[in-house]
Amino acid sequence: MADTPQPVGVSARTGQKFTGAALVSAEVTGLGSDGGHHVLQLADGGEIRARAVVLATGARYRKLEVPGIEALEGRSVYYAATNQEARLCGTDPVAIVGGGNSAGQATVFLADHVSHVHLLIRGHDLGKSMSRYLVDQIERHPRVTVHRNAEIREVHGNKNLEEIAIEDNRTGDKARIRVHALFVFIGATPHTGWLTDAIALDDHGFVLTGVDAVPAREDGNQRLGAPPSRTLETSRAGLFAAGDVRSGSVKRVASAVGEGAMAVRQIHEYFERS
Ligand SMILES: Cc1cc2nc3c(=O)[nH]c(=O)nc-3n(C[C@H](O)[C@H](O)[C@H](O)COP(=O)(O)OP(=O)(O)OC[C@H]3O[C@@H](n4cnc5c(N)ncnc54)[C@H](O)[C@@H]3O)c2cc1C
Repeated sequence: MADTPQPVGVSARTGQKFTGAALVSAEVTGLGSDGGHHVLQLADGGEIRARAVVLATGARYRKLEVPGIEALEGRSVYYAATNQEARLCGTDPVAIVGGGNSAGQATVFLADHVSHVHLLIRGHDLGKSMSRYLVDQIERHPRVTVHRNAEIREVHGNKNLEEIAIEDNRTGDKARIRVHALFVFIGATPHTGWLTDAIALDDHGFVLTGVDAVPAREDGNQRLGAPPSRTLETSRAGLFAAGDVRSGSVKRVASAVGEGAMAVRQIHEYFERS
């Protein structure tokens, strides 16, 4: 939301559909402030000044480094476990990689749909990074097997996944498991490196918003504007975050788009107040 439709130092063209919008192809490398404006610094040396900004820079999903896995993405290898993926799996057995809550929630959900879930964790203690209520459900579930100290070494299958080869990272023992889908939940890295100390981030670098951003502001070190009363506003007044980059967001296309629409409304409220 730039005040100036023709930013300095970047090529801009007027959007045909969004009247009054300037679409700029540029990488943002820094965030400053100047007289009540946010200042976005661009990689080519240009700047964009704006009274309000929506950060929607997304995240990079970590991938398993296993030969051949990319060719199976979208057909047998997934990074989300919703009704859609559950339907695609039918009743086939599946494997899930990851020891956090995302992996735990996917395990509990898929175990009620497929014939068997093999949960693979690199460490030994399932409770180390997963909430107790999920651990309890997983350990009780008759269609879940937890493979501890397990790492995937190979994936096999022509068009679709048929089998994975795993290795015990303590003993070196190898085993093969027949699964027709692999779900990967080994974390995501938000594109927030360029923000440095400009706004409050969570422990993993995702942008804190709404009430979650308040404690950071009260620490004093992030206090750059009025306290946000809006759910998508960051620790800095007039700076909003939407989609995958936002701490606690659902990490789905539909929710990212929905948050974008909500952010526009919250910006209008911000303008009315300020
Ligand atoms: C392999 C895979 C499969 C998926 N499958 C599904 C699915 O089936 N259904 C579903 O709902 N979701 C799926 N997701 C999740 C979905 O893609 C995301 O939730 C969604 O794209 C988030 O939208 P976003 O706008 O927040 O971020 P993104 O779509 O990641 O967009 C962020 C944009 O910001 C740009 N950017 C980043 N940093 C900068 C910078 N410094 N300057 C300028 N631009 C920058 C990036 O280049 C990118 O264009 C999948 C994700 C992956 C990785």
